[in-house]
Amino acid sequence: MTIAAELSDLTRSHGRLTPGFALGWRVAEYLREFFDGLDGVRVAAPAGTEQAAALRQVRTESRLPLDLVQTEIGRGWDALAYHPATGTVLEINAGLTCGRLTTRSGATPGAPHLPKDGDEEDQLRLARFLLDEPVEHCCRIVERLVVRSRHAGADGAAIPCRRCGGMTERRDIWNVNGIPCCANCTGLDPSWIALH
Ligand SMILES: [Zn+2]
Repeated sequence: MTIAAELSDLTRSHGRLTPGFALGWRVAEYLREFFDGLDGVRVAAPAGTEQAAALRQVRTESRLPLDLVQTEIGRGWDALAYHPATGTVLEINAGLTCGRLTTRSGATPGAPHLPKDGDEEDQLRLARFLLDEPVEHCCRIVERLVVRSRHAGADGAAIPCRRCGGMTERRDIWNVNGIPCCANCTGLDPSWIALH
């Protein structure tokens, strides 16, 4: 199935093409390429968002081995991907603030403004832009290496988590970009922590 045909099928299942849905689909494509397939990749997205709906549709229609966890809104990202085998974590923020697309370097050039009371035409304009632009122009993407500490299983005194300061048994310490912290401060979904 071609990419366009797949999107067309997904949109039909969803009902219409919206900016959030377009972005979710592009994010799924980005992850598929980044991880060279989605086998074993875990993805979390806040429940009830368009992005989560798109990721769910991608999983259903394409029968991809995408393990999608729905989370509450307000975690600080729009999608979080985790590859347990390598410890690679991608935190993705759509950067859609007050109807304008922004990335770390500022407003995305050429992005249509989506007014607060934007109609279907406004939504479609932005959705089409999102389908054409490289994902990196539409999202803030932060990569982290999150691995279980090599002290895992070792006995010994607890040490403080470098993020929250909480005393943590050595066997429960993780490393986020080399910084020791507790499981909570890794930002991983609890069901992912339980994998290790
Ligand atoms: Zn902590």
